[in-house]
Amino acid sequence: MSRPPIYKRVLLKVSGEALMGDRDYGLDIAVLKGIAEDIRDVAALGVEICMVIGGGNIFRGVAGASAGMDRTQADGMGMLATVMNALAMQNWLEKLGVTTRVQSAIPMASLAEPFIRRRAMRHMEKGRVVIFAAGTGNPFFTTDTAAALRAAEMGCDALLKGTQVDGVYSADPRKNPLAERYTTITYLDVLSRDLAVMDAAAISLARENKLPIVVFNIHEPGAFTAVMQGEGKFTTVVDP
Ligand code: UDP
Repeated sequence: MSRPPIYKRVLLKVSGEALMGDRDYGLDIAVLKGIAEDIRDVAALGVEICMVIGGGNIFRGVAGASAGMDRTQADGMGMLATVMNALAMQNWLEKLGVTTRVQSAIPMASLAEPFIRRRAMRHMEKGRVVIFAAGTGNPFFTTDTAAALRAAEMGCDALLKGTQVDGVYSADPRKNPLAERYTTITYLDVLSRDLAVMDAAAISLARENKLPIVVFNIHEPGAFTAVMQGEGKFTTVVDP
């Protein structure tokens, strides 16, 4: 029999880059399908799931700004990129029979619901996966911050950060074979040692709201399920 989940309600943050697979731009369908399968399996454990997806696989505001664009204009493009990713994720989840809703922080009524916290809560209670698109709806923010914000608003028990590595290491494990993976680490350690978990605003928001951040490898099939059962490899960012 499978072990009961360690969290009842979680927000899963996946960066846009994680959806590229081996490409250098856009979406890799196999990656989307793989993540969708893992989400389906976690939902089947009875876990309530919401998601924030980044847009870095398509467009980042800072890149536009460094090419001479107005930053707010460029960030608008970045937020629209996250909507494209959210619709793609919705597509592959629904093909697996997972009921979903996309809620956008920028109103676009014919594509997605507007972000309405209480409605999102209700969706999750009914077992629907809610995908939050368009970040916070404001320029100069990131989808990491949007993830911490929505996780706090939705009363999530944890923020799951699906990355390319299976946790937080003392050094880059791809360069240093002696690098050790932490089981737990504090928010302050992550901030003061500049460990690339999430940006500082997101870490601070999570800390203020006592929201554990669980870092795991989203590309390992079954890893999300294992993490939710307290097994497998991951690092939890939490205060002692
Ligand atoms: N963005 C924004 N406000 C937000 C979230 C995102 O303006 O609240 C824009 C910003 O330009 C950012 C882009 O959307 O570069 C894509 O998000 P992010 O870089 O966080 O994506 P990820 O790195 O997770 O793929």
